[in-house]
Amino acid sequence: MKWIFTPSEPAGLPVVDQDAQFPVQRIFCVGRNYVEHAQEMGHSGREDPFFFCKPPHALVAVDDSGNSVMPYPSQTDDLHHEVELAVMLDKGGKDLSLEQAVDAIYGYAISLDMTRRDLQAAAKKQGRPWETGKAFDASALIGPVHPKSQTGELTQGQIALYVNDQLRQQGDLSQLIWNVAESIAYLSRFFTLQAGDVLMTGTPAGVGAVQKGDQMRAVIEGLGQVQVTVR
Ligand code: MN
Repeated sequence: MKWIFTPSEPAGLPVVDQDAQFPVQRIFCVGRNYVEHAQEMGHSGREDPFFFCKPPHALVAVDDSGNSVMPYPSQTDDLHHEVELAVMLDKGGKDLSLEQAVDAIYGYAISLDMTRRDLQAAAKKQGRPWETGKAFDASALIGPVHPKSQTGELTQGQIALYVNDQLRQQGDLSQLIWNVAESIAYLSRFFTLQAGDVLMTGTPAGVGAVQKGDQMRAVIEGLGQVQVTVR
């Protein structure tokens, strides 16, 4: 194939105990998927899941080395953290059953759905799309991928976020309104899923703002932790 210019390489994530990277195609995100977070955002009850996307260009691979950095984005005074379980798919398809959805999972990672909350709130009020609030550069911070072959299927376990060692968010994966398999199966009714797709599964209660210089530490039981400094 001849190109007018050289296309960029796919975004990639390191995989624990492997020298090959996981190539990231699309990043889907579930909105309001823990009861207490839905309540803190002014909603109640079990509504159907809804999804938004971040481009793979928004991805920053982060780790626990202490060297991971996210630049404070432009055009906001209210940058929020949302710690989430991210799920990587190595199989695709549409109208997946719950069993097929679980089978499509390659692995898991800790992620942060960084959000310009002020722009998202303005977009909600005006009925506009969320991209400037959700899909900006460095808005998808994702840690190393842990293959499901090592972790087993993750359906429970603590998920938490600390800012400067103070606990901000806490929940359990078992509290997901739409669990991982249900979320993937539901998503596959609307999109033909592909190997390389990533799903960020929603955040527990306690979202809040970070400032330049703050250090975020995200923890998910079975996946270790990642640390990211806002610069
Ligand atoms: Mn989120």
